[in-house]
Amino acid sequence: EAIIEVKNLKKVYKKRKTKESLIAVDDISFSVNRGEILGLLGPNGAGKSTMIKMICGLLIPDDGSIIVNGINTQKKRLDALRHISAVLEGNRNLYWRLSVKENLEYFAGNRGLSSKDIAEQIEGLLTKFNLKDKENELVNRLSRGMQQKLAIAVAMLADSEIILLDEPTLGLDIETSYEVRELLKSIAKGYNRTIIISSHDMDVIQAICNRTIVINYGKVVANDNVENLLRLF
Ligand code: ADP
Ligand code: ADP
Repeated sequence: EAIIEVKNLKKVYKKRKTKESLIAVDDISFSVNRGEILGLLGPNGAGKSTMIKMICGLLIPDDGSIIVNGINTQKKRLDALRHISAVLEGNRNLYWRLSVKENLEYFAGNRGLSSKDIAEQIEGLLTKFNLKDKENELVNRLSRGMQQKLAIAVAMLADSEIILLDEPTLGLDIETSYEVRELLKSIAKGYNRTIIISSHDMDVIQAICNRTIVINYGKVVANDNVENLLRLF
């Protein structure tokens, strides 16, 4: 059963000065089943971020539609967005002047849980993400890898069925990159969410995803499970 249906999606960027236009996403269609871990693989500039920003409502498509849980995101934007949380480049979803724990408390507090349940959930996440000894550190003092882990933890807290991650391991050192990859793998297995991960790194996609859509120059060039894709390359 499809939880996300992307149909004939298109996004064009126009340069203000020259009026030149660039087709970043060019007639892309695919669907994602409930519980699936989908990879969006493609080189820098392929259109992955643009795609993800359209699905999570940060960019309005020029053409086509995105259906989330049967809801057309352009017609009922808020209803659709309630099902999605996203971890984007720059981790703008975090409060930089709050501590790790305060960020988690803030986002957990939006959900009407008892304070006991909130405390338990936050303890669980701090342990799982290996952030316990940084719980009182301000976000702007954390390393990039720690910030990335916190951003993922915050996305988990939102309890939405769909999690989008744009280049979750980009710019991390090898060790942290591996740690984030393993975390995502265990989240994907254990939490029964639908996850879309974009990356230019085949290894990251291969380690985590069931199925992969390869995009280049804004078009889908392959859509298959990872084993079959590896035979192509
Ligand atoms: P990816 O995430 O795969 O690296 P992007 O979606 O970021 O690809 O970019 C796709 C293309 O659109 C690239 O050529 C990029 O330079 C261009 N692009 C992205 N954002 C903008 C923007 N705000 N204005 C103009 N061009 C953009
Ligand atoms: P990412 O690939 O991670 O999405 P972006 O492509 O969005 O990063 O680039 C970061 C910023 O630069 C964005 O604010 C985007 O709007 C802008 N940008 C990217 N490519 C271009 C471009 N070719 N022309 C103008 N702005 C761009």
